[in-house]
Amino acid sequence: MSKDERFDVVVIGAGPNGMTTAAYLAKCGLSVCVLEERTECGGACETQEPIPGVRIFPHAMLMYASPAPGFEQLELHKHGFRMNWSPHDVLTENTDFACTDGWRPITDKDKLGWAKLGGLLGTPPFTRDLMRATFWCPPHPPEVEVTDENVPYMQVYKQHQPDIWTHELREMTMLDLLDEHCETEHFKTAMAFAAWASGAAGHWEGVAIPAVTSVQLLTLPNTGNRSIPRGGLHGYFHAIHRAAVSHGAVVRTCCPVDEILIEDGRAVGVRLRETAAMGGRTIRANKAVIAAIDVHQAFLKMVGPRHLDPGVIQKIKDVSLKNQTLYVSVFHTKTPLKLNAKFASHQEAKGIGSGPGRTPQLGVYPCDSREIYYENVADVDGHKGQPVVPAERVMWFHGPPQTFDPTDCQASYKRGYISNAFEVAVTSPDLHKEGEDALDRYKAEMDAYMRKAYSQMVDGLDDANLIHHWSATGRDVEFRNTGLIGGTWCGSRHDEDQLWTNRPIQELARYRTPIEGLYHAHQTSGHPGGLCLMAIPYNLMHILIEDGIAEPGDWWYASPWYIPQHGKISARRG
Ligand SMILES: Cc1cc2nc3c(=O)[nH]c(=O)nc-3n(C[C@H](O)[C@H](O)[C@H](O)COP(=O)(O)OP(=O)(O)OC[C@H]3O[C@@H](n4cnc5c(N)ncnc54)[C@H](O)[C@@H]3O)c2cc1C
Repeated sequence: MSKDERFDVVVIGAGPNGMTTAAYLAKCGLSVCVLEERTECGGACETQEPIPGVRIFPHAMLMYASPAPGFEQLELHKHGFRMNWSPHDVLTENTDFACTDGWRPITDKDKLGWAKLGGLLGTPPFTRDLMRATFWCPPHPPEVEVTDENVPYMQVYKQHQPDIWTHELREMTMLDLLDEHCETEHFKTAMAFAAWASGAAGHWEGVAIPAVTSVQLLTLPNTGNRSIPRGGLHGYFHAIHRAAVSHGAVVRTCCPVDEILIEDGRAVGVRLRETAAMGGRTIRANKAVIAAIDVHQAFLKMVGPRHLDPGVIQKIKDVSLKNQTLYVSVFHTKTPLKLNAKFASHQEAKGIGSGPGRTPQLGVYPCDSREIYYENVADVDGHKGQPVVPAERVMWFHGPPQTFDPTDCQASYKRGYISNAFEVAVTSPDLHKEGEDALDRYKAEMDAYMRKAYSQMVDGLDDANLIHHWSATGRDVEFRNTGLIGGTWCGSRHDEDQLWTNRPIQELARYRTPIEGLYHAHQTSGHPGGLCLMAIPYNLMHILIEDGIAEPGDWWYASPWYIPQHGKISARRG
């Protein structure tokens, strides 16, 4: 048997970005091979099964993708995508936010300000346009100067809600913007924290709108409220995987790539690691190689200095992939966790909860004021060590229930109760001042600290009730998913070059790379970065059409805010 195989496109990495790109390209009729290092596909859209029949979600849990064109374009409903609709609506229900002194109500001004920023008060509402403009549009070509007039979300506001449009909007922090439009401190604090965990932190300058819209993807009624895919985000990934396979993509697991083959300055294929299931084999690409893996590995290891300008190499080295990471906890208990006396009666009376089981949705705790938020940010971004914020003041959020079909064994698991995930931002391993294994060395203490933090709101985490505490440290996250950056799509630096046309390195901003035929489609380099949005693959499609690699059928539509590159094929068809 020949050692070489040949496809039109080789995709390295079967995380959500790699697999969605493969689905798009296979639908265009190209032969596509996806190569995945691990035994399973999904990247950080994974599930673990620590007990037979019990699945937990150590990473991606929240569905931020609902306005993505990929649902229609890839027809994910035909490939098994199902959503468990949550009717819980933070804008119309009298939602309260959890603070150290109990629930505090939010006001009509909070709700109306939030609704207005999210395009709900337009006639007609323009939420989908706003979200698509923020995330689902490729950066403008390098020859186009980025101005207040041509940034997609600025255009949407100007057209639909002109009183929000100001020259300052692109300079502001999310907290600045919320101070203008909303009222209560606890609402603003909760939203800023949610933005920090979603990508662009609430206190970062220049990302007010991406920060607001990333949280609105989880909270507005017309983005699905807190609905989650059946089977969690891994269920969503399955639909994408099936779409890719149904269009003919070949997916190979246990196939780590070691090298991107470059001949005469052009990427022509990849070489697998000797230990791969198809050890050492060369897989050639007629049209393109797509690196859907982290930017360091892709360029510093697989391409190497021989093929890259030293300036670009230095910029890639300068991108620290590690900012905060999330410490994730899931509990197996004898009796279900219950809200403690300070919080119980109130929420139960309102019947608030999400998923078919109406599991209480605790949201973010404690939201008292932005001082608490800043204390937590300082711990992670400043102290770079074990947390010093007292457990009573550590900010955490409670993931949605990962609902399963009633016939699924998890839904009727008899031996105890499995909680939703709880998450806290912590210093990422390689920035920890006591060394990158510190989080693991302190794991028992960290687990106890986390339980104390969650016990501010829930009862049942005591030794007598606890069967097991599954926790994933930043180190665990890294080992399981190469190149994760803690869910943060802005990466670790907060500066101009983390934004859109520059993100995070201008040479890679439009997913092209200095190597002809090599594209980069991973959260660590492409706009808009992390979260399982189907955004990088959709945006990349514009570029692959421009370069004559992909020729989609009638199902394709480009972003209305996309500006074609001079001298290239326009991705706007017809
Ligand atoms: C704790 C945590 C919580 C998160 N929560 C959410 C959430 O609720 N909602 C959400 O939308 N997003 C969430 N995210 C972010 C989201 O999971 C990531 O943004 C997303 O997985 C990025 O997808 P990707 O395809 O770019 O990369 P990855 O998911 O990292 O996939 C890359 C793939 O490439 C493979 N690979 C690496 N090296 C090689 C090699 N040499 N050869 C072959 N294959 C290789 C990896 O094994 C992996 O499968 C979270 C992330 C974390 C860490």
